[in-house]
Amino acid sequence: MATQVRTRFSPSPTGALHLGGAHTALFNWLFARHHGGVFILRIEDTDMERSRAHFVEEILEALLWLGLDWDEGPYFQSQRLAIYDDFIHRLLKAGAAYCCDCDPQELEARRQAALARGDKPRYDGRCRERGLPLGPKTAVRFKTPQTGITFWHDQIKGHIAFENQELDDLVIRRADGIPTYNFAVVVDDITMRVSHVIRGDDHISNTPRQILIYQALGEEPPLFAHMPLMLGKDRTKLSKRHGALPVLAYRDRGILPQALTNYLARLGWSHGDQEIFSREELIRYFSLEHVGKAPGIHDDDKLLWLNSHYLKETPPEELGRLLLPFLAKEGIHTDDAVKAARVAATLNKRAKTLMEMAQAARFYYLDPWPYDEEAARKHLTPGALPVLREARERLAAGVELSEEGLTRLLKDLARDLGVKVVEVAQPLRVALTGKAASPSLTELIPILGREETIRRLDFALRHLGA
Ligand code: GLU
Repeated sequence: MATQVRTRFSPSPTGALHLGGAHTALFNWLFARHHGGVFILRIEDTDMERSRAHFVEEILEALLWLGLDWDEGPYFQSQRLAIYDDFIHRLLKAGAAYCCDCDPQELEARRQAALARGDKPRYDGRCRERGLPLGPKTAVRFKTPQTGITFWHDQIKGHIAFENQELDDLVIRRADGIPTYNFAVVVDDITMRVSHVIRGDDHISNTPRQILIYQALGEEPPLFAHMPLMLGKDRTKLSKRHGALPVLAYRDRGILPQALTNYLARLGWSHGDQEIFSREELIRYFSLEHVGKAPGIHDDDKLLWLNSHYLKETPPEELGRLLLPFLAKEGIHTDDAVKAARVAATLNKRAKTLMEMAQAARFYYLDPWPYDEEAARKHLTPGALPVLREARERLAAGVELSEEGLTRLLKDLARDLGVKVVEVAQPLRVALTGKAASPSLTELIPILGREETIRRLDFALRHLGA
């Protein structure tokens, strides 16, 4: 590509960053990174009533958590009003825009009348040729050509064309001086030298309006790529109903950022039938040619599957550090990352999220009683007394707390008491963890330590009235 690739992500801070927004941000980021280009962050906050500073904070936090770092920005549209005004004057001077003082209520009445007549409810062009000056109560409208066709070659969807007569004279600057979306975006994309606009296909109907503004300004439009929107399983627009959450809620649920980016990358984009991609692979392979036309369907199970994969891949030291805040949510306040790493290493094969892992880790830190009722009924029976007693004695006598030492202990106990190894293991497991399923005893006993293991066995013996 001759010119530098420059993409942008331009969220409106009227809500948190959701999966759809993260999907768009990721594709822009990957495209820029793949081409060694620039990824720009722009906050579209001209809707002063609905924009909130805390949403800006949350969006930045979510992008950084996902690892989608930006090279320029964040720019804020609300700080660029003078730039938009310059461009408004350029259009007015060129006769490509005009001032309009139609009263909003009256406009609405005229729209309703048009609808009643069976006409399209569009601006009737009343101020088009009036030559009104720009005043405190005038809006500015773009003079859309009334004939001809506006088209572009979409980098994902192919050729798209609109009849200009379908587009009415849109307001580009409201009477209060605030530019409207279609105009501000064009000015920003020109001044920020954006080369590729990659966004959701819900913006397709805005694109001909934007192209006409580029043309009126004598500017070359960027290339457009409209990505299919993500849908829920019932093929309707993705929403809370489908269990879709804001990005930071995935973090708080214990999803790893690499799982979420891998998941989002594969929605609508593919590289053969590969499912698991490192970040380097995503950057290396990403291209718009392999973005499909069909929408990606959100599938929480697939996200969890990927997350399990990354939980297994993450080195225990890192997993331990990541686990600490999730332990805190379970009421376990510890900063012992070394222990947390050992704990995590015993749980990462089964847990699907860090939250599940922290729940499964409770017994390492808290008393395992009251026991799971069914587990206790089944395995902590008077028949288990000799097992518990013998195990306690041998541990107190100094059995080595290694995988080997403990495997031998279990086997010797079974042999000496004339029972199967599982008949030894299950009562011990319930006594030590409160449950009938847990990581292996040979892994968990060394983490509990000798003293704590003996304390728990003593409690179980008392529980059985011994
Ligand atoms: N602020 C717009 C949105 O959130 C961005 C549209 C665009 O990328 O041009 O949908």
